[in-house]
Amino acid sequence: MKNNASTSDGLVNFIDEKTIRAEMEKATNPAPGLIREILAKARERQGLDPDEAAALLGNRNRDLDTAIFETAREVKKGIYGNRLVVFAPLYITNECGNQCAYCGFNAKNDDLERRTLSSEEIRKEVTVLEDQGHKRLLLVYGEHPRFGADWIAQTVRDVYSVTSAKSGEIRRVNVNCAPLDVEGFRTLHEVGIGTYQCFQETYHRPTYEKLHVAGRKKDFLWRLHAMHRAQEAGIDDVGMGALFGLYDPIFEVLGLLHHAHRLELDWGVGPHTISFPRLEPAQNADIAYNPPYPTSDHEFKKIVAVLRLAVPYTGLILTTRENAALRKELVEMGVSQLSGGSRTYPGAYSDPEYDRPDVQQFCIGDSRSLDEVIRSIAGEHGYVPSWCTACYRLGRTGEHFMELAKTGFIQKFCLPNGLLTFKEYLEDYASEETKKVGEALIKHEIDTYPDPDRKRLLVERLTRMEAGERDLYL
Ligand code: SAM
Ligand code: SF4
Repeated sequence: MKNNASTSDGLVNFIDEKTIRAEMEKATNPAPGLIREILAKARERQGLDPDEAAALLGNRNRDLDTAIFETAREVKKGIYGNRLVVFAPLYITNECGNQCAYCGFNAKNDDLERRTLSSEEIRKEVTVLEDQGHKRLLLVYGEHPRFGADWIAQTVRDVYSVTSAKSGEIRRVNVNCAPLDVEGFRTLHEVGIGTYQCFQETYHRPTYEKLHVAGRKKDFLWRLHAMHRAQEAGIDDVGMGALFGLYDPIFEVLGLLHHAHRLELDWGVGPHTISFPRLEPAQNADIAYNPPYPTSDHEFKKIVAVLRLAVPYTGLILTTRENAALRKELVEMGVSQLSGGSRTYPGAYSDPEYDRPDVQQFCIGDSRSLDEVIRSIAGEHGYVPSWCTACYRLGRTGEHFMELAKTGFIQKFCLPNGLLTFKEYLEDYASEETKKVGEALIKHEIDTYPDPDRKRLLVERLTRMEAGERDLYL
């Protein structure tokens, strides 16, 4: 399925509302035996079809919901172990020509102070983030005619250019910007972006068209095919998502799964990540204060658990939109990547008065510092925070990554590599309190590491890190 043009003329809508409705209808009140059968299949880590995911989501029996959560925990642990990738968003511009009804950056929001970072300001922000210990950033942009692919590519170069002897460098820049044409994606690929991320917001086309009042984003199909164009341009790590609260959450999960399957059929590889933000209050966006389809914490947990079972090898990303207590549960159930110490407007990290509703995109639910987030991940959850970027730098991306992930590779490489980046963080950035908690966790992980040969390699590298070497991986 190729589309090199810059319009959506002729693009196919592979999200078939009728099919999704039929799947949802069939899944009302599913028999307990069916749920157990689906969970048995999910334990084999082969993923689930949309109708099976629909049945799990349609279940109303609390005991079976508990079984769904338990199975998701088991699958998550089996594939990912206790490792959690950490990143921070970096907002580059809040200027936007679109009118998305739910977003504070909406072109019609006259109360928002508009800011676009200059190269120098980007470097200042990156320096602050590097000094905190970040190695992976997600760059976020409004969609404005002034900012094309070349400009975005320059901002990516700006980020990669900030290196210091003390704080190292950003090793992976992911990008969340409006969909580009194939050539535009090629430009981003050439400057070495990691994942291209773009959320469909809602897979229900009439709702999509109603909420995207004006601007380029109004075009549902142009956005729906963004991942295909990115793949065509050589970006094989793509991240999709839906914004929960706009439409029926079960419809959205099935939309995500149909989208993922389409990508797999057409490009041989599904999404690298899926995100599932919930609507947060945003300046002058009524719908963000009163979501038409509010998603309860229980429903949200089920969404995460079912996604983990349906696409077991896809990274699931949680942001600071959720509060700390719920984040803990979601991590155990399936989340594999987490943002920490986030701020949601351009210039926020170098702004001493950072709580600014007049410039930010939405209000965040977890305002802890990165150090606090890391301490709680390692201490309370027993999870190893990871900044690892080894796969990406060794060319293990896209289809290749998925194949490796399916053969237990994550345990063999990702856990030791995660521990090495965690050690680096503890040596260079952590508070004394966090260092104590972190060192105890590393010791426990070494003591319980099952493979003696790899354990020896790991211990040797950890010792070299204590002696001052950096950026070591297996
Ligand atoms: N402008 C680009 C776009 O729309 O794709 C990328 C940046 S946009 C700031 C990133 C994401 O923020 C959107 O895709 C949307 O899902 C999310 N978002 C917008 N308003 C939000 C709100 N009120 N609460 C939570 N997430 C929101
Ligand atoms: Fe602009 Fe993206 Fe916000 Fe829509 S969601 S108003 S496109 S920044």
